[in-house]
Amino acid sequence: MSRDLKSIIEKMTLEEKAGLCSGLDFWHTKGVERLNIPSIMVSDGPHGLRKQAEDADHLGLNVSVPATCFPSGATLACSWDRALLEKVGEAIGRECQAQDVSILLGPAANIKRSPLCGRNFEYFSEDPYLSSELAASHIKGVQNQGIGTSLKHYTANNQEYKRLLIDVIVDERTLREIYLASFEGAIKKSQPWTVMCAYNKVNGEYCSENKYLLTDILRDEWGYEGFVVSDWGAVNERVDALIAGLELEMPSSGGIGDKKIIEAVKSGILPESVLDGAVERLLKIIFRAVDNKREDATFDEDAHHKLAREIARESMVLLKNEDEILPLKKEGTVAIIGGFAKRPRYQGGGSSHVNPTKLDSALEEIEKLAGDQMKILYADGYRLDEESGLFSSQVFKSASDVADETLIEEAKEIAAKSDVAVVFAGLPESYESEGFDRKHLRIPEGHSQLIEEISKVNENTVVVLSNGAPIEMPWLDEVKGVLECYLGGQAFGGAVADLLFGEANPCGKLAETFPVKLSDNPSHLNFPGDDKKVEYREGLFVGYRYYEAKEMMPLFPFGYGLSYTTFEYTNIGVDKNSILDTEELNVNVKVKNTGSMAGKEIVQLYVRDVESSVIRPIKELKGFEKVSLDPGEEKTVTFTLGKRAFAYYNEDINDWYVEDGEFEILVGGSSDCTPLKTVVYVSSTEKVEKVYTRNSTIGEIMEDPIGRKLVTKFMQENNFEIFKDELSGGMAEIIKNTPLRNLTMLTNGQVTEDILDSLLAKLN
Ligand code: BGC
Repeated sequence: MSRDLKSIIEKMTLEEKAGLCSGLDFWHTKGVERLNIPSIMVSDGPHGLRKQAEDADHLGLNVSVPATCFPSGATLACSWDRALLEKVGEAIGRECQAQDVSILLGPAANIKRSPLCGRNFEYFSEDPYLSSELAASHIKGVQNQGIGTSLKHYTANNQEYKRLLIDVIVDERTLREIYLASFEGAIKKSQPWTVMCAYNKVNGEYCSENKYLLTDILRDEWGYEGFVVSDWGAVNERVDALIAGLELEMPSSGGIGDKKIIEAVKSGILPESVLDGAVERLLKIIFRAVDNKREDATFDEDAHHKLAREIARESMVLLKNEDEILPLKKEGTVAIIGGFAKRPRYQGGGSSHVNPTKLDSALEEIEKLAGDQMKILYADGYRLDEESGLFSSQVFKSASDVADETLIEEAKEIAAKSDVAVVFAGLPESYESEGFDRKHLRIPEGHSQLIEEISKVNENTVVVLSNGAPIEMPWLDEVKGVLECYLGGQAFGGAVADLLFGEANPCGKLAETFPVKLSDNPSHLNFPGDDKKVEYREGLFVGYRYYEAKEMMPLFPFGYGLSYTTFEYTNIGVDKNSILDTEELNVNVKVKNTGSMAGKEIVQLYVRDVESSVIRPIKELKGFEKVSLDPGEEKTVTFTLGKRAFAYYNEDINDWYVEDGEFEILVGGSSDCTPLKTVVYVSSTEKVEKVYTRNSTIGEIMEDPIGRKLVTKFMQENNFEIFKDELSGGMAEIIKNTPLRNLTMLTNGQVTEDILDSLLAKLN
């Protein structure tokens, strides 16, 4: 329904307008009854709905209504499947409709700078392209259902330590290419109804009052049309935030924020037109929510549980499969070991914590699928913690921190008499949660010792991992199989059973690098920073961008994941060998299933700038597609690349820029395995105007064909001794790096300041 928002705003009092800019309570916006402005409800996200019943406590902590707990963001990302993310979004959107929630607080597109960040399980990837593509699909799915989203946490919220205060110091190019890019694509593609600003500061300014981020970039550059909401409690100075572009403060500030806005308008500090603009943007979304409300909406719990199982199956990553230990044959004896098999670790702690409609036990699901020919034994192996709520009552403490010798002995006994031992292990919830970061990459001693001991008595040991972020695996060589399930949601158990028995073929790939050890990670020396600030000194070299440049072998590389079948890559082709940066390039490759089981392959395309005048990563992900192939089947996969696939952010022109030259297109099934390669020449349509100064080097000028001509002519005309012969060797290198101003010295005063100025005038 179209409404005249301007005339509604004209009728609003100053108090009503200021009031609209902050929440009614923890989860609602304010309504204005006399003008028929409704109050709408927002709720967490991202991987399921956490709606608190009407009697919610003021801190938003008590239990939420049952909803489907889908796999967490980190898990979903391993599917590399846009359509699947859209499906998840649609299902959550349906649940929001049924529960009368208008806006889902998610997805979360923060980059995984360090594997220690306590909330990595909610985030997608270390790579901005993958992250933004998946966020875009998630948003699209939810919003297809007439429900809004809140893309969060904008931006550079990459740790929990001091998250409300920390100042992230990051250079512009890194900010643009890594941390902002993860949001940019999603905003441009899917226009989330709202964007949630992060708690932290970026380069000295709180995100909540950072005009550069909230208005200049988000609205003016990217064309964002929705409103900005603060993360809960992220507002520092309400008026500064409003001026910077933050429309809604959440949760309610108890009237304090409203009062400040009113006073600022009255005293003339805040032009009323700025407030009116914010109110208009809020009303647009509030009314959109009302117009999209579906009366009597319901959802099918069983169907959503089934979907959660499918999604978990598509996201788990097979990391090791020696001697084809998996899939398990449905015969003989299998020992299922570890409390996570009975009571799964399936989601992370904090605001994203969902109260699931159902919860699969892996052990029960394995028993269901095993059939009559297989005998199943079970042992706990380690002690489980008490079930926790939103936040674990213990931080970094688990009953499994100390190995329980008796439980390990029991487990060893059944493992010794089994054909295969499957150990369920990983991180307890108290190890990773919103609110704090991990300190190391180890799993509890009770888990690691169990794996070591079991692998000694059964050479066919398989480890099934549940964890929201990378862990160390000192026992990797001792076991034959590793299935990384991340946090698999409420149907984790069924999905694991499907994959263990080959009812489905693993098809997830890592959306982040697993380092061998923590100190290998590029952020290691600067994480989590000091009391006030954290400096992103590794710059662009986040994740695989770093490991590749350092030629450092990770435990498992970005994009890695095995299948029960094999794939072959052939025939890379491009539709043009050279393009302008304004043109698109189509790349085709053929992928064939060369094994005997149907499967899905994630085809990854990376671009490498062969030669660049600026520092660039070895290669960067610029395309991916997931293809489903029957045994023997071959498909052609097509990618379309535009300017951004070749560009870097040029700080001289404050824009994306492609440097003329050759680019390699590399395609394969993992960042460390790209068997296909072709080269394309890209020409820039934008010429960056070079301004030479007295401090430009002679080398820089000589690189420019016109500069070279001018300087050579100038030298010859003036018969400068030192430049009479062609320079070579070390001397040439020294001269190359010499600034123009030193010509006076090099020519013993022959080149005067006046002569220099006239040369510069010609050069420019
Ligand atoms: C979290 C957000 C969440 C909000 C509301 C904050 O503490 O950072 O992600 O949406 O709380 O629960």
